[in-house]
Amino acid sequence: MTRVFSGIKPTGHLTLGNYLGAMRQWAVVDQHRAEALFCVVDLHALTVDHDPARVRRLTRQAATLLLASGLDPQLCTLYVQSHVDEHARLSYLLECVASDGEMRRMIQYKEKAARERERDGSVRLSLLTYPVLMAADILAYGTDEVPVGDDQTQHVELARDLAVRFNQRYGHTFVVPKATRPAVAARVMNLQEPASKMGKSDDSGLGIVYLLDEPDVVRKKVMRAVTDSGREVVYDPEERPGLANLLEILAACTGGNPDELSAVYQSYGALKKDTADAVVEVLRPVQARHRELCADPAYVEGVLRDGADRARKMARPVVDTAYRAIGL
Ligand code: ADP
Repeated sequence: MTRVFSGIKPTGHLTLGNYLGAMRQWAVVDQHRAEALFCVVDLHALTVDHDPARVRRLTRQAATLLLASGLDPQLCTLYVQSHVDEHARLSYLLECVASDGEMRRMIQYKEKAARERERDGSVRLSLLTYPVLMAADILAYGTDEVPVGDDQTQHVELARDLAVRFNQRYGHTFVVPKATRPAVAARVMNLQEPASKMGKSDDSGLGIVYLLDEPDVVRKKVMRAVTDSGREVVYDPEERPGLANLLEILAACTGGNPDELSAVYQSYGALKKDTADAVVEVLRPVQARHRELCADPAYVEGVLRDGADRARKMARPVVDTAYRAIGL
């Protein structure tokens, strides 16, 4: 059976981008078609300045929201990265296979390092080596496919390169994984800055729709989305990125096609109103289930404990083989 792995970072509150670009696909498609592992990758949250209590809280919240989005512990393995030592164990071996130049070429590193240097004056070494840990996350499970948004495909490429290189040098050890992407809304953009993606951050501004936003907050954010001075509703991601983003969000929420949907609307206002309604409807069941799960924290803890036990059993033989192959 195909093995699928994907993860989510507890660096902020989860967004509509996380949901439409990743979580929904995991729940609706991946857990049914494959042997799937989904992980809250808390070690990755330490690569930038963080508050320990907040990371712990956001880790539980992300796990709860993944369950609320429809991940079923009977169908998939849901766990927290730091509960399974194999990730860090394998990461070190892969650091001995990766090169520093390869790390410095990562687009996300360049962007994030520039931000960190400006804010903090220095960049954590773990930010540079982060893609190696991500490769370990993937390779430890003999993963075939990694469903991710566009922003992560370069990292999955690196995992492939490292798997191939390790296998060539030390004998066949790892399955070579590939990235898969959802059909629509692979990249949801910030509603205020349509040139950048809707990423979780501490920004509580209007550009980001969070999964736990109340309906009136969602409506306000979508209605105030930045578009352009045109009047006609057309789907043109290059020239009209704000409008295209709204059409893509609406398409992803309703199962439509952004190009076809553009023909339905005569005004930006009508498009925004329907997009807001569609987002509210998509979030409603997730929020309801989240409320129920919050009332039963012991259940969530139990799921994560069982998940970590299962994950450990899968990862250990692969990582042990890698240790032997490399000469330890
Ligand atoms: P973030 O960028 O929000 O910190 P993560 O690195 O935790 O996200 O990624 C979790 C998953 O959500 C990944 O598969 C990523 O590609 C996807 N994702 C994150 N933001 C978006 C977005 N704006 N549009 C589509 N997918 C996204």
